Amino acid sequence: MKKKKKKMTTAFGIPVADDLNSLTAGERGPVLMQDAHLLEKLAHFDRERIPERVVHAKGAGAFGHFEVTADVTKYTRAAFLSQVGKRTEVFARFSTVGGERGSADAARDPRGFAVKFYTEEGNYDFVGNNTPVFFIRDPLKFPDFIHTQKRDPATNLPNPDMFWDFLSLTPESIHQVTILFSDRGTPAGYRNMNGYSSHTYKWYNDKGQYYWVQYHFKTDQGIKNLTRQEAKRLCGEDPDNATRDLHQAIDRGDYPSWTLEMQILSPEKAKDFPWDIFDITKVWPHGEVPPIKIGKLVLDRNPDNYFADVEQAAFGPGNVVPGIAVSPDKMLQARVFSYHDTHIHRLGPNYHLIPVNAPKNAPETSYQRDGLMRVDDNAGGGPNYWPNSFDGPEPDPQAGEPLIELSGSAGRYPFTYPNDDFVQAGNLFSKVMTDEAREHLVGNIVDHLGKAQKRIQLRQTALFYKAHEEYGSRVAQGLGLDVKEVKRLAAMSQKERTEATEV
Ligand code: NDP
Repeated sequence: MKKKKKKMTTAFGIPVADDLNSLTAGERGPVLMQDAHLLEKLAHFDRERIPERVVHAKGAGAFGHFEVTADVTKYTRAAFLSQVGKRTEVFARFSTVGGERGSADAARDPRGFAVKFYTEEGNYDFVGNNTPVFFIRDPLKFPDFIHTQKRDPATNLPNPDMFWDFLSLTPESIHQVTILFSDRGTPAGYRNMNGYSSHTYKWYNDKGQYYWVQYHFKTDQGIKNLTRQEAKRLCGEDPDNATRDLHQAIDRGDYPSWTLEMQILSPEKAKDFPWDIFDITKVWPHGEVPPIKIGKLVLDRNPDNYFADVEQAAFGPGNVVPGIAVSPDKMLQARVFSYHDTHIHRLGPNYHLIPVNAPKNAPETSYQRDGLMRVDDNAGGGPNYWPNSFDGPEPDPQAGEPLIELSGSAGRYPFTYPNDDFVQAGNLFSKVMTDEAREHLVGNIVDHLGKAQKRIQLRQTALFYKAHEEYGSRVAQGLGLDVKEVKRLAAMSQKERTEATEV
């Protein structure tokens, strides 16, 4: 028997008689204003695009679960981590950072790695990257940094001078620049990269004891990267390669997974730690704080609708559940504001009601009311203020973070401890990378930095030299620069180097 076809309606459920011919005065027009169906259809189309994210605009996502594999109750009281074997539903979104919504997946760029855990204590958002560090560590520099990675305000073209001018004037970026220009800057796909918190977070247990932690989601598919040549080819031939790879793998039942490893540092050990644990340009060496395996993230369901679940997904580093807290890391503090603010701009003040963002496993019982697109019952007729004596939801003091000890004078402080931004980048180059990885790194840098002005090349190459003599020398040779000149610049202070390379 032939299946009965669904009837088409307007957005308001009214049957549509004809969706091919506009209502006109006579056969040859003009169109009548009273064609409400046409007007509704056009007006909605005109508004289909919402503002794209200013960063992380191009992304792909999927649903799945997280399963606890080790007892971490002595470190955190988070309910979703309270038992080995416990599973929590998740939604994950991966992205590039600098490109627009239609840009190529294979571009050299860090990758966003965000996971929303729908816990029974509300949504916990992990909002990380595929790199364990970042370019800058003070949020006041963030908008400037991003401007340099985007388009030239005059030409609307990417501008290597802007890109390298800023980085060469921001020496703390050297560690992240080294990772970005290694082949890890062009992962083969989202399944083949790790996800790091990059920031330090705090975990605390039910006794109020706390620990500093860093998250490492290690890909179970293995790290797989593209060479510069492969990445460039894909940018042209298959700009959606990573989006497709994730979608198709899940479709065929080849579910990608990541093992969550934690670095956990006691406050006592943190006091003598050789690195500033709130400086996002540094890692915690594995030898100092060995990572421990605590869980498994599996993605096993593609969204039915990209816009509904991926484009409208909104993550915020401030969404932490009891047992997890932010650290004083200045970048993290600013992200707590900026992500929420961006989502309000993109999606409206009630973005938490959009199904992908709504707390699935914990009811929302706040006193926030009204606002654009309040599409639920707006908490009905209950009291809309606190305190009240009408049986409204009340705060639970048990949910609070233990007291945070703070001291110091308010001021604008540069990072001074431990004041060496080059050692970890140098270690990566000289101790971690293989000969092939070093060769690719140098080639990738030369290919990109070679398009900037010579004085900027010199200033940036001096930073590579400061990280490691061989690193700087090889980049200098690749660019045709005088190694002695690079060495001379490397020996200068940043201020002297800037003056020596100004126009
Ligand atoms: P380890 O030898 O214990 O760790 C080195 C780590 O480097 C590896 O585990 C791997 O991280 C990562 N790695 C390998 N190739 C690359 C690459 N091309 N780009 C970025 N990372 C790479 O040494 P340490 O812990 O003492 O760290 C030495 C250096 O390694 C650091 O200065 C840092 O640059 C880099 N690193 C360190 C990480 C950490 O958290 N300690 C994390 C990532 C990099 P993974 O296992 O995460 O894939």
